[in-house]
Amino acid sequence: MDFDLLMPTSAAEAIALMQENPNARYLAGGTDLVPNLRRGIGAPDILIGLDGVEDLKGISEGGDYLTLGAGVTLAELEGSGLSGRYGALSAAVDIAGPALRQAATIGGNLCLDTRCIFYNQSKWWRNANQYCLKLDGDTCHVAPKGQRCHAAFSGDLAPALMVLGAEVRVVGPNADGWKPISDLYHEDGLAHLTLAPGDLLVAVRLPVVSRDLRSGYLKSRLRKAVDFPLAGVAVALRREGDAITDLRVGVTGTNPRPLLFDGLVGGMDQGPNDDALSAITKEIGQMIKPMRTTNLPGLYRRQMVTVLTRRLITDLYDAGDRKE
Ligand SMILES: Cc1cc2nc3c(=O)[nH]c(=O)nc-3n(C[C@H](O)[C@H](O)[C@H](O)COP(=O)(O)OP(=O)(O)OC[C@H]3O[C@@H](n4cnc5c(N)ncnc54)[C@H](O)[C@@H]3O)c2cc1C
Ligand code: SF4
Repeated sequence: MDFDLLMPTSAAEAIALMQENPNARYLAGGTDLVPNLRRGIGAPDILIGLDGVEDLKGISEGGDYLTLGAGVTLAELEGSGLSGRYGALSAAVDIAGPALRQAATIGGNLCLDTRCIFYNQSKWWRNANQYCLKLDGDTCHVAPKGQRCHAAFSGDLAPALMVLGAEVRVVGPNADGWKPISDLYHEDGLAHLTLAPGDLLVAVRLPVVSRDLRSGYLKSRLRKAVDFPLAGVAVALRREGDAITDLRVGVTGTNPRPLLFDGLVGGMDQGPNDDALSAITKEIGQMIKPMRTTNLPGLYRRQMVTVLTRRLITDLYDAGDRKE
């Protein structure tokens, strides 16, 4: 691994450096990028470090939004006392381990590469398996008859931010504006981000939610710490009397992109019941595609999405009027 490290101090400078060096990569905390580079996944000769970019820093609450800089570390997010109104976000930030969270950033988490057991391996291992479609090879070992990559997006923050109505600000050679966080992704394990060359994720903003929006996040993973989610579910809901009047579900770990399901309140006028919950999990089940990309079988991860969705909806519904 041999590269030059450039350290811009502004977003404009970072983007200009990327335009001058199209093969360069942005480096935030490096907790995803560096292990991949060590495995020979990519070999940029220049890394553009984002640590000194002031535009990416800080958490601020003003007007109608809570704004989080893309360079805010997960430890800073965790320590910012966001619980209560942003329950899904404060639960989802339990990512990797404490040491990694000191370096890992929000932007890096949202721009995480997709993962697969045939991809996140040493170059030697991948070479012995004739590589694969995602990098250096021509066959997908998970679905050899197709020409698609099914590597899974496995970031924790995206589904939580989705159910909370987040938007991202992307700045680049031809971009500067806010868009729904879902628009950052598309369903392609080879290239799951919609960012154009040079685009920089600058910030995330969340509408300041009212206290009646209850939200949470649960994930399934092999160990209760450090491991990536093999299926993760975020839920946000509003309860009025016995009825659920607003219900959103976000899912990670099953597809090349995180998924948002909105407007799911059908049949919930008397609260969660078996028929309504089955209808919701059926709708979600039609969209998720957990493949043989992890150590746990796709069918198990599919069932976990159902279990976690049902558990979160009923728990949040029963949570009562929460006081911060
Ligand atoms: C042992 C281990 C366990 C982990 N467990 C989890 C887990 O449980 N859940 C989870 O979600 N993640 C996990 N991770 C992955 C990673 O630590 C986190 O996702 C982290 O938040 C990535 O942030 P980073 O700043 O280190 O990103 P980096 O590694 O610096 O960057 C990741 C990617 O994002 C791009 N990028 C970074 N910032 C920007 C930006 N502002 N604009 C455009 N592109 C950008 C980089 O070019 C790179 O492609 C784990 C990692 C390890 C090593
Ligand atoms: S899903 Fe297929 S193409 Fe994608 S990383 Fe895995 S083996 Fe490679």
